[in-house]
Amino acid sequence: MKQDITKLASSNDISQFLYNIYNKLYEFWGPQHWWPAETKFEMVISAILAQNISWNSVEKAICNLKRANILSIEGILQTSDEKLAELVKPAGYYNQKTKRLKEFCNFLKKEFNSDLEKLFALDISSLRQVLLSQKGIGFETADSIILYGAEKPIFVVDSYTKRLFYRLGLIESEKISYNDLQAIIMANLTPQTKFFNEFHALIVKHCKEICKSKKPICNKCCLRLICNYFNE
Ligand code: SF4
Repeated sequence: MKQDITKLASSNDISQFLYNIYNKLYEFWGPQHWWPAETKFEMVISAILAQNISWNSVEKAICNLKRANILSIEGILQTSDEKLAELVKPAGYYNQKTKRLKEFCNFLKKEFNSDLEKLFALDISSLRQVLLSQKGIGFETADSIILYGAEKPIFVVDSYTKRLFYRLGLIESEKISYNDLQAIIMANLTPQTKFFNEFHALIVKHCKEICKSKKPICNKCCLRLICNYFNE
């Protein structure tokens, strides 16, 4: 894994660098209040719907499910595939997502007696394994559910994290694997749910607003003094 880390040789350097990034982002943006959901079940459903789609689209689909009064395990299971697909249509890939929602609700009903808290009572490693065994749940979705639903300390990585840490000079390539980048980050931070919650949300906010994919707005960026990309 060492080859993925650039100029920051020692573990202390990496750790300080990460805390420095967090402090600057928090000072600049303030608290992000993630995950925006009224219940843990809504959080999980929105995480499954959020795959490959913008958050606005997820919100529309969740709104439809609430209006139809079916945002519950039984509500989803008792709704026909056609009707459910129509309701989640704004979130894209609606036939596939309909199937995923039904499969997940069936799994919760059969394996955990329809009790999300029983699933969340598993330790992080078992919970991750169980979530990843569900079709259509990948690393990012599983870890989002663990962090924001089960409220357990795991660092969520996404394409924003890879872009930001690459530009800042922490990693050598944006092509680093999900698990390798997560391992680097988690080996250098004290695992705390609230901190990981806020850090991931701040990275997403910063990359959406400032460190954009094509034209980063470096002159407005609170990280420019410690950024490789800006100082090259
Ligand atoms: S200085 Fe530019 S490239 Fe570096 S983190 Fe900020 S916006 Fe991104």
